[in-house]
Amino acid sequence: PKVLLTGGSGFIAAHVLELLLKRGHEVVTTVRSEDKASKIRDAHPNAKLTVVIVPDIAQPGAFDEVMQTPGLEYVQHTASPFHFKWSDAKTELLDPAIKGTTSVLEAVKKFAPGVKRVVITSSFAAILSQSGLEDKTTVFSEADWNPSTYEDGLNGPKPTAYRVSKKYAEKAGWDFVANEKPNFDLATICPPMVFGPVVHHLNSLAAINTSNERFVQLIRGEWKKEIPPTGVFLWVDVRDVALAHVNAMEKPEAGGKRFLTTAGHFSNRDLVTAVRKGLPDLADKLPDESVKGGELPEGVYGYDNLRATKVLGIDWTPIEKSAVDTVKSLQEVGA
Ligand code: NDP
Repeated sequence: PKVLLTGGSGFIAAHVLELLLKRGHEVVTTVRSEDKASKIRDAHPNAKLTVVIVPDIAQPGAFDEVMQTPGLEYVQHTASPFHFKWSDAKTELLDPAIKGTTSVLEAVKKFAPGVKRVVITSSFAAILSQSGLEDKTTVFSEADWNPSTYEDGLNGPKPTAYRVSKKYAEKAGWDFVANEKPNFDLATICPPMVFGPVVHHLNSLAAINTSNERFVQLIRGEWKKEIPPTGVFLWVDVRDVALAHVNAMEKPEAGGKRFLTTAGHFSNRDLVTAVRKGLPDLADKLPDESVKGGELPEGVYGYDNLRATKVLGIDWTPIEKSAVDTVKSLQEVGA
């Protein structure tokens, strides 16, 4: 089967791409620049892979041309801004996230009648609520939707704007399917913090994807005096996220469902412990055990990952392995 993967240059997408090729799918992937296109081609010589440039996913009709590729059966839509290096929330964050999703779905409906399913990379950001995060009796699941509004995204702090971009992008997907009743169905993957080895091309460590930034800080010795607060206390390994995307595409019963893909709780302190144990050579970069900060609070909200575990068949990678594999991959990039 032939699969269109948007944003093939990304941290998660690179793992999705590898797994799709490994499972024998033919892949057409989109990126924003020729530079990134050639890096991906070079990384996969002899693969059944075409790399196409879509410069601005927020433009109407952005995907019209690539969607006319003959024989497409599935679409994996991962491209969406996940960084805080923007100044205008609407044009640089919300539009590419939300209009990008609608552009993909409109193009499928118009030009790719053979597509049976679209998988969208959403986020735990589309599920969580601030009040739920502050209440230890909460059990987050696919039944929950972030209550923040579009206006919160336009006017709020950057992390809120990001969460709103993911909520409304995913919602645009479900609304499209409900209103347009196209030939395809939808599955959405909602991961919390994604860690794991970097297999996509990085020009420098400064270009590290947002969720792996903390590992770069850690191994540069920036946590020696104090371990920073963890933020969201749920995580998942990128290889499990990639498996979730591909299984959500291949398994008929995944259609029409959202998936909260998480391995469970973690804290920044757990990352330190895992790296100390797995990579003893890095000891002088790490905070010693007397250093405070980064603990998992006693009362922390819960999660329900049963649907992803059962329907997608995922055996969650433990944090010890994920942390060590992440750091090793960063060392290969030159950290
Ligand atoms: P990356 O930053 O590595 O990947 C983001 C991808 O989206 C890249 O391919 C990037 O292209 C593309 N992209 C970003 N902005 C635009 C834009 N304006 N127009 C076109 N393409 C754009 O991060 P991740 O791999 O982590 O993110 C992939 C997806 O996963 C996103 O949808 C993100 O929201 C979601 N996600 C990530 C989580 C995490 O912890 N990592 C958690 C939950 C969800 P380019 O290479 O050109 O910048």
